[in-house]
Order: sequence, then C-alpha cells, then structure tokens
Amino acid sequence: MTTGGAQTLVIAGGGLAGSLVALAMARLRPEVPILLVEAGAGFGGNHIWSFFKSDVAAEDRWLVEPIIAASWDGYDVRFPDRERTLPTRYHSCRSSLLDAALRARLRPDQYRLGAPIAAVDPAGLTLEGGERIAGAPAVDARGVDRLDALDLGWQKFLGVEYRLDAPHGLERPIVMDAIVDQEDGYRFVYCLPFAPDRLLVEDTYYSTDPGLDSTAVDARIRAYAESRGWRIAGVESREEGLLPVAMGGDFDAFWPDDGGPARLGLRGGFFHPTTGYSLPDAVRLALLVARQPDFSALGTLLRAEAVRLWRDRSFYRLLNRMLFRAASPAERYRVLEHFYRLDPATIERFYAARSTPWDKMRIMSGKPPVPIGKALAQLWA
Ligand SMILES: Cc1cc2nc3c(=O)[nH]c(=O)nc-3n(C[C@H](O)[C@H](O)[C@H](O)COP(=O)(O)OP(=O)(O)OC[C@H]3O[C@@H](n4cnc5c(N)ncnc54)[C@H](O)[C@@H]3O)c2cc1C
Repeated sequence: MTTGGAQTLVIAGGGLAGSLVALAMARLRPEVPILLVEAGAGFGGNHIWSFFKSDVAAEDRWLVEPIIAASWDGYDVRFPDRERTLPTRYHSCRSSLLDAALRARLRPDQYRLGAPIAAVDPAGLTLEGGERIAGAPAVDARGVDRLDALDLGWQKFLGVEYRLDAPHGLERPIVMDAIVDQEDGYRFVYCLPFAPDRLLVEDTYYSTDPGLDSTAVDARIRAYAESRGWRIAGVESREEGLLPVAMGGDFDAFWPDDGGPARLGLRGGFFHPTTGYSLPDAVRLALLVARQPDFSALGTLLRAEAVRLWRDRSFYRLLNRMLFRAASPAERYRVLEHFYRLDPATIERFYAARSTPWDKMRIMSGKPPVPIGKALAQLWA
C-alpha cells in the first residue's frame, strides 16, 4: 500500500503497544502514512494499565499522558511483618482513554476496526476474509503468542471496580496487601482508589497453574472488601488477566531469526519478567520506532532490542525461579516481604527493570527467605 509515494507503516493489533506506535507516529511523523488494524470494535480492549512514574523517562511521558485516568503520590504495601508507604508516584491508565486518544488524533483512513488479521508478514498483512493490505514494513503487535517456547509461571488476577455507599478512606493505592490467606501460590490484593467512593479491588496469584476459578475469586474479593468495612453499592467493571512470569526459555524459538515481521508488545517479549507489565517498554519502543528515519529494517532493530533485553533481564528470571521453585507456595510472600525492606530508589529501579549490579547484590543479600540449598540450585538452573 502506498500513499502519495510513501510506503505505509502497517500496525497489526490496536492494543497497548500498537496503539502507542500509532499515537507516536501521528505526533512525530505525521507525513508518514500509517494504518492501525484491530480485530475489536475499539482500541485497547478493557484494561487498566498502571505504572510507576520512575518506569517512564520524563521526556517520553507525553505519549502516555493523555491516557492517564488517575495518579497518586505514593503507594502502600502490607505484609504480615512489614507495612510500608513508598513515595513513588503511581499512575493508572484506562483503555477507554486510549481509544478516545486514537479516534481524536488519527484520521479515519489511518485505522481499521473490526478487522481480524489472518497473517502478518514483513511486507504487510492478510485479513481473515482474504483482503491483502501491503505496506513495508508491518509491525505485529497482536498480543501474547508462542509462550510455549518460554519457561513460565503465571500472575493471574481478577479485578472488580466497586461503587461504594460511603468513602473507603484510602488515600493511595495498595499495590500489595499480602495479609490475606496464601492460597494457590503468592497471593495479594491490589486496590486502586479512583474516587472516594470508587475502588478497584484485584485478587492476584503468582502460581504455576494458569487456571483461575472466577466465581471463587470473585467471592474472595467481595469478602476482602467487606472485611475492610467497605459497603458495596454496585459493580462498575471487571477485568481478568493472565500475565507470563518468565523463568527461562529458548528466546530463539520464541522469536526465530528468520526475517519475519517486526514485533512489539507481549508478542515481542517486551515485558518485565517478574511483573509481566509491558507499558514502560511499549512507550519506549513506540518512540524508538517513530524516530527511525527508515522503517525497512524494523524487524532487525526490534529483534535485536528484544535479544538485548532478554540478556539484560536474566537476573529477574533468576528471581522468578527463586520465587516459584525455591519457596513453597505458602511461603512465597516472604520473598516479597524481604524485598520491600529496600530503599525506594532500589525498588523503583527493580520495577523499571533497570537494577544496577549493586541493587542486585542488595536484593539477594540478607537472611534468605527461602531454603539456601534450593536457592543455590536456581542459580545454576
Ligand atoms: C487485565 C490486565 C491488566 C494489566 N495491567 C497491566 C498494568 O497495570 N501495567 C502494565 O504495564 N501491564 C499490564 N498488563 C500487561 C500488559 O501490559 C498488557 O497485557 C498489554 O495490554 C499488552 O500489550 P500488547 O499491545 O502487547 O497486547 P494487547 O494490549 O493485548 O493488544 C493486542 C491487540 O491485538 C488485537 N489482536 C489480536 N489478534 C488479532 C488479530 N488476529 N487480528 C486483529 N487484531 C488482533 C487484540 O484485539 C488487541 O487489541 C495487564 C494485562 C492484563 C491482561
């Protein structure tokens, strides 16, 4: 597909990563024709994506600013032997704002909704109905795929956004409340206070089993809310998620070096190995793509970046093995409780996947919260 002589950058998948590329292109490269192709009726699905201020470089912040729905000066964590307020600013984005931003900034000829894609290749894509959309190059941002090449545990969760009869009294998010029964691995509750009477309560499990009994978890969330004295007036929305927690794997099998299309988002392995969060990588890479003078080598560029991150982030995969394989499921919370003794800057760099060698030593030091023999076994796994 060519428009006015220039080749079109075709973006497959209008979720978080693909949509951010389109927004970055609309702002930085308005002269380059783009086409964002999404199967759903809107962009971004039904999600709340959160991040710490320190996860996104100050100069990149403008890209995500329009989709931030709420921000707080700090957050709490709660463990049986440690309760703490951290000062790092926390932001939550809503997919409805991403959808609105795209519709406001893209012209109708720059996107297709309700267009399921059958296949993506380096020169374009083919829709399920057989229609061919050619452009050079195409970027595949259709979400998670080929995870069987990786050695994974899971972070699974169900969140319910409640309307309350009376103010909940929370001033800031609770990013981890682990003072709950430790069922099905490391369990914690996550709370986002969107308004004095509106609250997202999410029940999260770090588990080796990807299955989630939604009915049972829903009842646990309600029981948690009631135990905190929050009187539920109604349910605003729900979200369910299953995020990969990478412990190892064969990167070349995940993304073969075969000249295939460029990938972004979860499809390219661009997520934090421990948290499964992908927003910080998605922002940085959207801007990297938009700043390329020439898009013909995007596949090579993004694969090289994915390989670099896979190597750089091996420490987090080691931590994940410690969490899943050295600690018994009921004791996994101790690893996080021990981690949260650290200073805020070290914790920030951990979440941003930018831990320094000194940070890594600090994270691993102290009386180990897991049996030492099992921990050592993971060092060489
Ligand atoms: C419930 C939930 C909450 C999360 N919370 C956070 C968070 O707080 N912070 C964070 O950083 N990360 C979070 N994540 C993790 C991660 O950031 C998200 O999963 C993020 O949406 C991944 O971005 P993506 O663009 O790779 O995939 P997606 O956002 O899943 O986008 C993929 C898009 O491709 C489309 N698509 C797929 N197949 C086709 C096809 N054949 N044809 C056309 N379109 C197709 C899909 O409809 C979708 O819109 C969360 C994940 C979930 C599931």
